[in-house]
Amino acid sequence: PTGISLLREPTLNKGSAFTLEEREALGLSGLLPPRVHTLDEQVQRILKNLRTQSTDIERYVYLIALQDRNKTLFYRVLLDNIEELMPIVYTPTVGQACLQFGQIFRRPRGIYITARDKGRVAELLGNWPYNDIRIIVVTDGERILGLGDLGADGMGIPVGKLALYSVCAGIHPSLSLPVTLDMGTDNARLLNDPLYTGLQHPRIRGELYDEMIEEFILAVQQVYPGALIQFEDFANRNAFRLLKQYRDQVCCFNDDIQGTASVTVAGVFSALRITGGTLKNQRFLFLGAGEAGLGTGELLVSAMIGEGLSLEEARQRCWYFDSKGLIVKDRTDLSGHKLHYAHDHPQVAGFLEAIELLKPQAIIGVSGQPKRFTPEILEAMARINERPIVFSLSNPTSKSECTAEEAYTWTDGRAIFASGSPFDPVVTHGRKLYPSQGNNVYIFPGVGMGVMASGAVRVTDEMFLTAARIVAGEVAENDLHYGRIFPPLPRIREVSQAVATAVAELAYKQGLATRPRPDDLQAYIQSLMFEPLYQDYIE
Ligand code: NAP
Ligand code: MN
Repeated sequence: PTGISLLREPTLNKGSAFTLEEREALGLSGLLPPRVHTLDEQVQRILKNLRTQSTDIERYVYLIALQDRNKTLFYRVLLDNIEELMPIVYTPTVGQACLQFGQIFRRPRGIYITARDKGRVAELLGNWPYNDIRIIVVTDGERILGLGDLGADGMGIPVGKLALYSVCAGIHPSLSLPVTLDMGTDNARLLNDPLYTGLQHPRIRGELYDEMIEEFILAVQQVYPGALIQFEDFANRNAFRLLKQYRDQVCCFNDDIQGTASVTVAGVFSALRITGGTLKNQRFLFLGAGEAGLGTGELLVSAMIGEGLSLEEARQRCWYFDSKGLIVKDRTDLSGHKLHYAHDHPQVAGFLEAIELLKPQAIIGVSGQPKRFTPEILEAMARINERPIVFSLSNPTSKSECTAEEAYTWTDGRAIFASGSPFDPVVTHGRKLYPSQGNNVYIFPGVGMGVMASGAVRVTDEMFLTAARIVAGEVAENDLHYGRIFPPLPRIREVSQAVATAVAELAYKQGLATRPRPDDLQAYIQSLMFEPLYQDYIE
């Protein structure tokens, strides 16, 4: 394209950074303000605007508009200011954006598939303007963060996750595709909202739902063969089932189960560097036995088996408390993975009593229920442990089991704390502590890049365990000292590159890779990583 169409194509647009020579050669003369700006100057303009907005949702809308205008600048701004902007493009603000999606909607992004499209899903996928798609993030919007069923308004999540693939692992934006399967919604507020973006019918369940999923999976194999499919924010009832059905058939994973497991286990590995404990001697008590909790348990168990425990012994180290109480043998309402963790133990009165009896080294909150880690619970953890491990992972911030400040205050500053959504540093007991965000972003971009680089045909649990070890190993001693159990976000590209290299290496080892192995895997992966810099249009 030339002329005005160049300014309207976000992957090519440089805005005021087109040089005079380029403007002359490309038919842009007169179409731009006379002064030529550098990319850095444009970044400054964006930051200035962002910082004068009064709310985070306005910042989100502003950033999305930038993504629509100029992708290079969008990714440059994010990459250079990741700590400041991650909470805008991802949790917690992305949650707010999904809650108001119909209202803030400007331009469409990604592919929407409804039950009306049965029989022509491949055709819809083919309408996407780029044909080399390597990574797809798909949701049906039924469990958006801890916010529940947001139907088609959940599209903000795949869009946000894919932006993070590009920022954190340098996956070129044109290689990825966000997809929403609009299977209806059971959210009454949305069904009655004139601005709701999806079809106004109750959720489709049963056979038709499964047929739509199956058609989608097959259509991806046909239109974008080998593309990695990331299941995101499906409700529990479908998440485990779909993962089980498809993980050995196609290249896919579920980030809420496996990505969360990996980042949580990474946090545990780091925490053990502080406490000096060994994994196989820890007892974990989870609040919440859903995708995140059970996924983490399964990965912990594989890691403990690696340390010499039997399957049974390893499972004995993981305990769960769900909406009905402690998961124990006597319960008759258990199914699926919960059964693996139904230990021989009497029922207890509450979570606090479970702590007193089981004396866990770590409590992990993945219940989606706010404020469940009460002062009494935190005090009990601090009585039992010199350095209690407290992860309150529920998102967004409003759902967190406790704040960073609460975790430190009620444990004399001794808690090793991580949360799902970010918290500011806390000054307590004469020390400044930096709470860590157990953000899946340490894991999935690197795993995706490793899978893409090696052409892996499957995604395995070993890959997620390897990723966890790499991430924990990237945490510096000094960071541990200040309570940080994850690497600083500004180092995310290095971390993702290390994860990608290890995952690709494993893919070759496991016989899953389909691309010839480069001599220097790490250098090859680095060469694939997209840098947000303008191209020169004139040699
Ligand atoms: P999920 O599959 O729906 O599971 C939620 C679990 O919480 C269920 O086991 C549920 O019990 C339990 N629960 C609900 N109310 C409870 C209560 N009052 N007391 C005890 N347990 C209760 O959801 P998920 O995918 O695991 O996600 C859970 C939370 O983790 C969400 O807020 C999500 O945003 C967050 N998360 C964080 C990260 C991260 O920080 N990296 C990653 C993924 C998810 P029943 O089984 O009895 O229904
Ligand atoms: Mn998710």
